[in-house]
Amino acid sequence: MYDFIIVGGGIVGMSTAMQLLQQMPDKKVLVLEKESSVAQHQTGHNSGVIHAGVYYTPGSLKAKFCLEGNRNTKDFCDENGIPYDECGKLLVATNDLEMERMKALWERTEANGLERSWLSAGELKEREPNITGVGGIFVPSSGIVSYKRVTEVMAEKFQEMGGTIEFNCMVTGVTERAGEVNVSTSKGTFSSQYMISCSGLMADRVVRMLGIEPQFKICPFRGEYYLLKPELNQVVNHLIYPIPDPNMPFLGVHLTRMIDGTVTVGPNAVMAWKREGYKKTDISLKDSLEALTYPGILKVLKDNLKPGLIEMKNSLFKSGYLKEVNKYCPMIEKADLSPYPAGVRAQAVSKDGKLVDDFLFVNTDRTINVCNAPSPAATSALPIGRHIINAAAEQFNLKTVSDLKQTA
Ligand SMILES: Cc1cc2nc3c(=O)[nH]c(=O)nc-3n(C[C@H](O)[C@H](O)[C@H](O)COP(=O)(O)OP(=O)(O)OC[C@H]3O[C@@H](n4cnc5c(N)ncnc54)[C@H](O)[C@@H]3O)c2cc1C
Repeated sequence: MYDFIIVGGGIVGMSTAMQLLQQMPDKKVLVLEKESSVAQHQTGHNSGVIHAGVYYTPGSLKAKFCLEGNRNTKDFCDENGIPYDECGKLLVATNDLEMERMKALWERTEANGLERSWLSAGELKEREPNITGVGGIFVPSSGIVSYKRVTEVMAEKFQEMGGTIEFNCMVTGVTERAGEVNVSTSKGTFSSQYMISCSGLMADRVVRMLGIEPQFKICPFRGEYYLLKPELNQVVNHLIYPIPDPNMPFLGVHLTRMIDGTVTVGPNAVMAWKREGYKKTDISLKDSLEALTYPGILKVLKDNLKPGLIEMKNSLFKSGYLKEVNKYCPMIEKADLSPYPAGVRAQAVSKDGKLVDDFLFVNTDRTINVCNAPSPAATSALPIGRHIINAAAEQFNLKTVSDLKQTA
């Protein structure tokens, strides 16, 4: 009998598992992961940006956890010898409309407590000779890292403290009883006092296993990238982001310096017909039917028909994609873009057709379920884990090391 079972070996699951044993060292903790190693889904297929917290609604969990997570991630990397680069980020406005939107973002960065500076077109050119715009915001605390590496280190630390990870172990059913939770898997049944689900793209399915009808559905959005040819690895000095349309949930195609020295362009956002489908041709009948019979997802598709079709066109034709990046970096040509692995975002959509904006948790008597943890959840993984542990301590009446220190 375990004290805690954690479903999912992505960065949210491993951050929670590691901090759980740091805060409750006497507990027996088991992580169940259906793949053969950690970080094989969202955590291993992202832009690797340590976000600063520019975009998020002031007062939201995203705004709070991103700000804390930015510092926590860098500290964790320093403590564990993980390479990262605090290269800073430039948001670039390319026309009057974007300039107006950028002013609103400037206010938001103020409300979110970020250090940043406003750049004129000339100052922008000075910082980034290959970037063209009418103005920009420079955010120095944004950085880059490999979240796969961060998660591997979290997993190592968790195991060193006595935690167990069962790989190739798919959770297929969960039964919550008065004194325990029974988790059925492809490797048999495991019993535990409590369960925490950090199952990313499968979050709604795990909630349904508990016998609860979730008030949301996970909609998978593929984010496709290109890699710039190596001669262009020095094309930018910072991360370069467009000014996002406030009505769209994603940040727009950006130029991202990766921690291995390469530069990616992307990601876009197209609906995926398979939850863990990384190729354009990946289709799952089950996943597609589930999405297309959910009223909320149908409404999202209907409400975003025009931008959705443009994204699809740009996904199919490189020239459309190139146009997006040429708005602020005109020197990039079609031949500079080579294929790069895509990622799939787990975005919760409510029944009434809203993309759930903030991080979302659904709790039962003995379980805590992370139900919406899209970007910046990799940046925020340490505070999200802390939040879960505090919620578990309160809800399950358990003491943490921090509680004991406070009372000592
Ligand atoms: C294209 C893209 C770009 C992004 N860029 C950034 C960025 O630059 N910065 C940032 O902060 N965030 C970024 N994000 C978001 C970030 O990657 C995710 O928010 C984060 O990785 C979520 O972590 P997770 O642990 O919740 O999910 P995941 O990493 O998806 O992990 C969930 C795990 O649960 C396992 N699982 C699911 N169901 C079961 C089951 N039934 N049984 C056993 N195991 C199960 C899965 O195999 C998986 O390993 C990006 C995401 C994408 C897709």
